[in-house]
Amino acid sequence: MELLSSKALEYAEASAGELEQLLLTLCRIPAPSHKEDERAKFCRDWFIAAGGKDTYIDAAKNVVCPWHLSEDKPIIVFMAHTDTVFPDLTPFEPVVTDERISCPGVGDDTANLAALMVASRYMMQHELPIGCGVLFVANSCEEGLGNLKGSRQLMKDYGSRIRAVVSFDGYLEGITHQAVGSHRYRIEVRTEGGHSYANFGRPNAIHLLSNLIGTLYDIKVPDNMGYTTYNVGCIEGGTSVNTIAQNASMLYEYRSDDRAGLGFMHQAFEQVIDDFRSKGIDVRVEMIGERPCSGSPDAGMMRWLENTAQQAVKAYTGILPGLGSGSTDCNIPLSMDIPAICPGLISGGGAHTREEYILRKSLLPGLKACLAMLSAYVK
Ligand SMILES: [Zn+2]
Repeated sequence: MELLSSKALEYAEASAGELEQLLLTLCRIPAPSHKEDERAKFCRDWFIAAGGKDTYIDAAKNVVCPWHLSEDKPIIVFMAHTDTVFPDLTPFEPVVTDERISCPGVGDDTANLAALMVASRYMMQHELPIGCGVLFVANSCEEGLGNLKGSRQLMKDYGSRIRAVVSFDGYLEGITHQAVGSHRYRIEVRTEGGHSYANFGRPNAIHLLSNLIGTLYDIKVPDNMGYTTYNVGCIEGGTSVNTIAQNASMLYEYRSDDRAGLGFMHQAFEQVIDDFRSKGIDVRVEMIGERPCSGSPDAGMMRWLENTAQQAVKAYTGILPGLGSGSTDCNIPLSMDIPAICPGLISGGGAHTREEYILRKSLLPGLKACLAMLSAYVK
């Protein structure tokens, strides 16, 4: 089934080489979460040259390109994130072979961003949105402790005017349509400490933290409140082998795709911390991340977003993407009952590793699928 006009198809074919060059250029501009400045400047200039004359960078380092925005019309947002999980500030050099482009961050989310940029230029130069205004956004802080800062800023600035959000992220095989919420903490235990021999018997922070971890792992996750999980991801502490540890800390998170599951874990977690404190143990808790679950976005609108994305991807790649839950920029709109989905436009692997790659042959079909979605959604 042909979803695109011959003009749009011609544009995609003619832009394939440029898309790959744009991807390589973006890959070379480091963009750890909170440090997206250079990549954001490049994207702003690119959008302006592509016809988005009102493009600006907001307080969260989002690059926002408004197209036919007016106060009386609802807005549809198309976004892809600029940040990567890698802290490196020295440029990466992508490795190109016949089959692949390899580079940290190439798939998550640089290739999706490049496809959105090239597709947005076609829209701005050849199409008119009907009945809605559009924001093309290269957003910040999707990853890890970026804590969805970019998406939050966008929803704060345009919230009630936004009718739908499509965030391009991940691979062609999946569409995230339900938000996995999470709470993340740094938890520290402190004690007086002392000499391991002379002061034997005093409380040891490592011992107490270990007990705390054991107690947290005794929590039985509910089996009737979505899919709920927890994890201790890092521990550190202590001074030396002959010192009663004065401090020990860990990073802990729990997640659920159901608000009730997240609420259950929150309560259980607080109870454990209260119990330890009531025994006179110095436990310090710092929340370092919070991602909300889905609320109740309009079901009909969700279906339309999902079906349109599935058809577009199927038509140009032969892959019918499945629907699933995940932690993405869509968490914020979904938590506000704003319909949002997160489709991917490329094939590849190794996301969040230094061996990350994408398949070059997926770039052009992904661009066509992106164009098909944009044209369908602005109608
Ligand atoms: Zn991503």
